[in-house]
Amino acid sequence: MLNVSRQTWLEILAEAWGSYPNEACGVLVARPEIDSPIVRFEPIVNAADSSRVFTLDPMGYMKAERRADDEGLAIVGVVHSHTHTAAYPSPTDVDEATKPLVPPTWHWAIVSLAWGFPELRSFRVTPGTGDTMTAAGIVEERVWLS
Ligand SMILES: [Zn+2]
Repeated sequence: MLNVSRQTWLEILAEAWGSYPNEACGVLVARPEIDSPIVRFEPIVNAADSSRVFTLDPMGYMKAERRADDEGLAIVGVVHSHTHTAAYPSPTDVDEATKPLVPPTWHWAIVSLAWGFPELRSFRVTPGTGDTMTAAGIVEERVWLS
């Protein structure tokens, strides 16, 4: 379950619309225990500067990680927007999500702005045994606004 406050949802939404038509991205910070409520969304520059893909700016990511560490918190997921497609992991997202250094416990939250009213969905993506998209495990989790 992805447990976000209404305030955090508004911040995610503001970042997504603010970056439109490019994809927005950022990280979710929480206590490290699984399913802990999200403490904050931290926007990070999309280094890909693209409407089709995102790359978390490495410096921005390092800063967010250090700040979380200092507070006894952790980065527990990533949020990005899809400006032209559904709120579902793309093949590129699955490739990124299943890289060796990406924890399989991470939330992959996606905001779609493709069809008017924004939609927020979240997934856990685990590496499959093969190298095709269907081989990876994409499991949708509930988004809870608290
Ligand atoms: Zn994506």
